[in-house]
Amino acid sequence: MSTAPVSSWCAASFSPAQSSLKRAFALRPSLSTRLSSSSVSLPTLIRNEPVFAAPAPVINPTWREDMGKDYDEAIEALKKLLSEKGDLKATAAVKVEQITAELQTASSDSKPSSTVDRIKTGFTFFKKEKYDKNPALYGELAKGQSPKFMVFACSDSRVCPSHVLDFQPGEAFVVRNVANMVPPYDQTKYSGAGAAIEYAVLHLKVQEIVVIGHSACGGIKGLMTFPYDGTTSTDFIEEWVKICLPARAKVNTQHGGAPLPELCGHCEKEAVNVSLGNLLTYPFVRDGLVNKTLSLKGGYYDFVNGAFELWGLDFGLSPPLSMKDVATILHWKL
Ligand SMILES: [Zn+2]
Repeated sequence: MSTAPVSSWCAASFSPAQSSLKRAFALRPSLSTRLSSSSVSLPTLIRNEPVFAAPAPVINPTWREDMGKDYDEAIEALKKLLSEKGDLKATAAVKVEQITAELQTASSDSKPSSTVDRIKTGFTFFKKEKYDKNPALYGELAKGQSPKFMVFACSDSRVCPSHVLDFQPGEAFVVRNVANMVPPYDQTKYSGAGAAIEYAVLHLKVQEIVVIGHSACGGIKGLMTFPYDGTTSTDFIEEWVKICLPARAKVNTQHGGAPLPELCGHCEKEAVNVSLGNLLTYPFVRDGLVNKTLSLKGGYYDFVNGAFELWGLDFGLSPPLSMKDVATILHWKL
């Protein structure tokens, strides 16, 4: 760890967790719900104060000349492929018919027989057992959101933070990506992450940003093993996980020669610290830390042993905060 944990705790007693073609059509939701208006009491997780979030976001897409190019090209490529591959065309038609039939046929069998059935039974269970039984909560959430947490977690299917930390709807504003990385402030290269952080900090006014790493992370294994010698074997992954190259360098320096799984384990935690450092490159995050309206935490979910670690970093903040301070705090050479 780069710095001394100030609020470290470990809960080892937690139960162990057990083609480039784009879609040419979109499935329209056939399920609809109505909220009960019988709100009883204000759930504790909802702060009774206005938030920026609109209860029902209205999206008015505008069309620009330059937006159509890539989409049109993709459709043309799909048409070309289908025309060249007669058998593929037939297969695609059968698949469309199958999906349409599945959407139109209500199955009484609770055992999922297909991915569509799985989604259907999942939502039916949620609607009946959770949504309909918590009108106060969902009534409040219909008006807006006021989460206390922003969470960065890996896209890995085993580490959903809402499951692992039992977050209820409305509690956590979550960004998930490969290897739970927070990129540095960059308005063009990383506008997706920047928009999420800006929205969470400035508009939702979250109190805590938690970056959560995890055991056996494929993205971190990639980071530790990609050659980065000018050759590439992926379209996006190598470039993305490069964000945490400082973590790889530190782990190799401190634990060089150790077996790869051990190196990856160290890097899974050290990459979280790199992300915490990157959060400091966002001016509104720095402002929140200085004004003590925001704090940052690192987390690590070990699903092999059913354990979770949480740590804070003592930045010793005092304005003005400079990049030199960040380097000093996290002991990295920038
Ligand atoms: Zn992962």
